[in-house]
Amino acid sequence: MPNGLLIVVPGPAGSGKGTVLAELLGKNDGFCYSVSATTRAPRPGERDGVNYFFLTRAEFEKRIAEGRMLEHTEYVGNYYGTPRDYVDASLSSGRHVVLEIEVDGAAQVKRLFPSAVLVFLCPPDLRTLEARLRGRNTETEEVIARRLRKAKEEIARAAAYDYIIVNEDGGAAQAAQALLSVVQAEQLRAGRCADERIRAFLGA
Ligand code: 5GP
Repeated sequence: MPNGLLIVVPGPAGSGKGTVLAELLGKNDGFCYSVSATTRAPRPGERDGVNYFFLTRAEFEKRIAEGRMLEHTEYVGNYYGTPRDYVDASLSSGRHVVLEIEVDGAAQVKRLFPSAVLVFLCPPDLRTLEARLRGRNTETEEVIARRLRKAKEEIARAAAYDYIIVNEDGGAAQAAQALLSVVQAEQLRAGRCADERIRAFLGA
């Protein structure tokens, strides 16, 4: 069975990644979502093991040392990282794995898995992004300002990714459809096909 695709969706906090990915995963079989680990405190309504694995700094650092993080980074004062086991097991079972991570982590993944597909999800403009960040009502002005600065840096690097999808306000379904089209096209790439199917066809 061919391995699944590793789909990395970087994009600034407030780009609407969560909504778009919920739409994609809710409507399509064969995809799974890698739950990240973090040291940030849960927001109201967030559940351990569902939104994130919420860890102490000591536990997170232990897992890094044990090689259990595929990638990790520090973002606005907290660690975030992708647990390795789940990704490895899901890809070898043929499922596509979606990583919802920021750009430094995305670059680390691309180095480790050159065949990963990087899709940058972008808000339509900074005003929309700011409104989305404020709409959460959970962060201080200082954290919002730091997240906005970070978002500008991330958007400036967007051209380095394989695809860019603009997530318009109210456009999550459309953005999810665009993401699905990217995955479908990527599966048909001559290189991937040659790897798996053509070899089998020739009995190699
Ligand atoms: P938030 O605190 O808003 O949930 O996430 C902050 C940023 O960390 C977002 O850009 C999010 O995509 C990113 N992030 C979440 N999980 C991971 C992860 O496992 N690795 C990396 N590198 N970034 C992550």
